[in-house]
Amino acid sequence: YAAAGASADTVEAAKHLFDPDKLTLGFARRFASYKRPNLLLQDPERLLRLLSNPQRPVQLIIAGKAHPADSAGQALIQKWVQFVRRPDVRPHAVFLSDYDMQLTERLVQGVDVWLNTPRRPWEACGTSGMKVLVNGGINLSELDGWWAEAYAQEVGWALGDGKEHGDDPSWDAEEAEALYDRLEREVVPAFYSRNDKGIPTAWVARMRESMARLTPRFSAERAVREYTEQHYLPAAATYLSRVANKGEVAKKIMDWRHSLDATWASLQFGAVKVETRGGQHIIEVEVGLHGLDSKAVRVEIFADEINGYHITRQEMTCLHPLSDESGSYLYSVAVSADRPPADYTARVMPRYDGVAIPLEESRILWQK
Ligand SMILES: *Cc1c(COP(=O)(O)O)cnc(C)c1O
Repeated sequence: YAAAGASADTVEAAKHLFDPDKLTLGFARRFASYKRPNLLLQDPERLLRLLSNPQRPVQLIIAGKAHPADSAGQALIQKWVQFVRRPDVRPHAVFLSDYDMQLTERLVQGVDVWLNTPRRPWEACGTSGMKVLVNGGINLSELDGWWAEAYAQEVGWALGDGKEHGDDPSWDAEEAEALYDRLEREVVPAFYSRNDKGIPTAWVARMRESMARLTPRFSAERAVREYTEQHYLPAAATYLSRVANKGEVAKKIMDWRHSLDATWASLQFGAVKVETRGGQHIIEVEVGLHGLDSKAVRVEIFADEINGYHITRQEMTCLHPLSDESGSYLYSVAVSADRPPADYTARVMPRYDGVAIPLEESRILWQK
């Protein structure tokens, strides 16, 4: 208000607009269409009834930003701004502009319930819900992104059936209905159901479960620890082993790389033979290595995750060299005959102990 040049009275009144003892809902995010930031606004009158119930009042804080080129997102913000400007809504809801990390920091500390209503399966994560955890807020969210992994009845509330429904407006309407229902019948009553000391015991139990169960799993501390233990430290150890003895190992790796450079373009698949017996396909392929050491590559059989089958990746065994001028070797593998032989494709990849494939060497040659 002050930045917009409102009167001193208006600015002063805004300081006392909200009551820390009322149930406070927060919804703040980028106004991208897939986040459905106006799902809660599908039935404005029902939302207003929820907010303005004198026995069990609710206050709502909305914040957000739309990309400058996203006019659909901007229109959604406008809808919210129009709603909170209504004189009957004004005491119960605010829209805070310039959503940024400083504003988030205060919001995630101050809200009782954090709402998220994305359209499945578009929410990659939903980070802000995790920020709420450590502050004792409780999530009410679509079962998408992190909440699809984190949700349990004891730690919060869920929306949706975990399935995908495209952008079907009738499904959006159904979910909006479910959101109001959940707020009216579960969230608001739980917040205002108090013991004789004024403590909402069921609410506090949920808060504690949410903090205890979810903060160890969904935090930057855990993520950084995993990166460190699983990737950074092994990478540091690998580096040290490669540079030891004036780079002895590193030099051998470079020799291996040069031999790949020299021969890779000439590698080729020859004849393929499949025999099916005892529930297995025995697949044999000839691979022309043209002088490349057979230990410098890994030949494997691959079948994709299609038609309800699991992915298969199995190393093929080098049986023996063939006496031909292309320096060919015969490779063999036995795979399950549950799926058709045509699902399986052989491929050649570089191999060297301690070198991360395909991170460091991404060449791959597929059987045609
Ligand atoms: C946390 C945060 C986001 C991301 O939140 P989501 O829940 O992933 O949408 C976006 N903007 C700001 C300013 C944030 O603090």
